[in-house]
Amino acid sequence: MKLYSTIVIIWFTFLGIQAQESFVIKNVTLFDGETVIENTSVLIEEGIVKKVGKDIQGDHKIVEGNGRFLMPALTNCHVHSFMVPQLYEAAKAGVLNLLDMHGLETMQHYMTNMRDQEGTARLYRAGYAATAPGGHGTQYGFEVPTLEKPEDAKQWIADRVEAGVDHIKIIVEPWKTTISHEIAKALIEEAHAQNKVAVAHISKKEDAYKVLSNGADGLVHIWGDGQLPQEQLDDLVKNQNFFVIPTVLTNVLVQPLFYGKTAEETAKVEEALLKEVKRLYDAGIPILAGTDPPNAEINMGTDLYKELIFFSKAGIPAIDVLKSATSLPATKFNIGNTGFIKEGYIADMLLLSKSPLEAMDHISSIEMIWKDGVIIK
Ligand SMILES: [Zn+2]
Repeated sequence: MKLYSTIVIIWFTFLGIQAQESFVIKNVTLFDGETVIENTSVLIEEGIVKKVGKDIQGDHKIVEGNGRFLMPALTNCHVHSFMVPQLYEAAKAGVLNLLDMHGLETMQHYMTNMRDQEGTARLYRAGYAATAPGGHGTQYGFEVPTLEKPEDAKQWIADRVEAGVDHIKIIVEPWKTTISHEIAKALIEEAHAQNKVAVAHISKKEDAYKVLSNGADGLVHIWGDGQLPQEQLDDLVKNQNFFVIPTVLTNVLVQPLFYGKTAEETAKVEEALLKEVKRLYDAGIPILAGTDPPNAEINMGTDLYKELIFFSKAGIPAIDVLKSATSLPATKFNIGNTGFIKEGYIADMLLLSKSPLEAMDHISSIEMIWKDGVIIK
């Protein structure tokens, strides 16, 4: 009997989440990743959204949604995760997808294999970020394969593909030795040849302009040195297709922590950042939510709410703020049938007691979290 139960436990551990009963969330306000539908119902069967609409028939377990707000689980588009507990910390806050932007490939391989386990966030990873010898990204105590010339790009990308990474991260950071824009361009082209999304770390607007002009799919930070010249912004909008993960929270928190800025100076930085984010949003550039934990002591979970509140404060309409952490990351990073509550999508969902459409800080009013249709909170 003891052996039998041990076998059952192992079986469950390996298969992750098991078959679930069907249920209906009734009479709820639904944000489906695209629009808001008032007073509707959602049928979940075997972890998948089976139907959305008022006329759901049959005998199902009911979750009363009246007065509540249902939305897809959140994604943090910029993290550095290296410990299994971080996957649980994120999931408890309703953050069920983490997009890692530089880390130890071997450890992360193990963590990505926990995607389908109960109670964890799903980790998607860049593996090692592309950087120069001694450049940004080499200071974290693990060895990083670096690049010295554009010809290195082909093998470097082949190694990441071999390691099973989900996307490619490129670091252009001139405060230390950095890879050149020629190397970055070669990396972007090679990543695209291998069907990988290529995103870039920059800190200066000039580098942002160059790396995006060379075809990068996105930036994992916004620049911190003022406004991008209007003609460059117009040029990028006209000729390139890209998104920005501005990491406002990170950029604000590092002001006193790293640069010794006063509260007043930090407030000015924040104001300028939010203005620039809104300017990008107004230009039609998709804005995605990411917070770069554990930098600046940011956590993997609830701190993502603060980024959404910043976006809202910048003047981005609530529905687009919600997209920044749900459907936009799913579409831009091709992370499968997630980010929406529509027929055929996996039932990774949050039920809130208050609507974030009224005030973005209501995002913290999460009453229930489902992963694959299984309640984890
Ligand atoms: Zn980062």
